[in-house]
Amino acid sequence: MARFAPELVGEELVALTRRLGDPAQDLVILAEGNTSERVGDDTIVVKTSGSSMKDAAADHFVAVEVSPLLELLRDPSSSQDALTAALSAGERNGRPVRASIETLIHVAVRAFEPARYVAHTHPTAVVSLLASTRAEDAFTEAVYSDELVVLGRSLFVPYAQPGIDLGRVFLERLGAHVEEFGEVPSLILLGNHGIVATSGSAEGAEAISLMAVKSARVRLGAIQAGGVAGLDAASTAHYFDRADFRERRAALAGADG
Ligand SMILES: [Zn+2]
Repeated sequence: MARFAPELVGEELVALTRRLGDPAQDLVILAEGNTSERVGDDTIVVKTSGSSMKDAAADHFVAVEVSPLLELLRDPSSSQDALTAALSAGERNGRPVRASIETLIHVAVRAFEPARYVAHTHPTAVVSLLASTRAEDAFTEAVYSDELVVLGRSLFVPYAQPGIDLGRVFLERLGAHVEEFGEVPSLILLGNHGIVATSGSAEGAEAISLMAVKSARVRLGAIQAGGVAGLDAASTAHYFDRADFRERRAALAGADG
């Protein structure tokens, strides 16, 4: 189902992937993380399994169709083996080429919104919180206003094994969030795992990823200083009704509004 199609891979996606893979950012090491871009009505290009983000190039991505993978994801009888076969793009230079095992995360986002960019990383500071006893509620309340602008209302998805299990839990939790708030979140937190940034622009996906790291550092610092004092949800809820707030979110995070 996956296919080698470097001609579909844009420079912006490659540049975004390299920036997020920069070791100085501490978002990923080795072959961790993956990015995707929607390049057609039903087509995304997604990073291959085993390639490193810092060295990204057009031939480190493969194209997959969203609909058949969503069908596989929604079919309770689908197995991990069926997914692995669907992600295979054959061989290049005698080696098997496969879309990332986490491709279903990228597919699930597009079940609800035609987001142009999705970036998935494992930032040390964020994973520290997501691997803690406070993981589920760590990001529920905003603690400073700029994170609210860039990150909006985030979603927490509990840990599941990467592959078909994580895909299913992710799709279900994302669907419930869209039902409640009428939008795909800019930031999705994966328990004991990492983050997913969704955006209409490459700059937005990068801004969300970096702001998530800052948000985690602020919380870790606050915990060291005696505890987190969040902004009360009642006092921040009305922000989402303000036109100036929505404009700033659209400009900085590439959010729809
Ligand atoms: Zn991951």
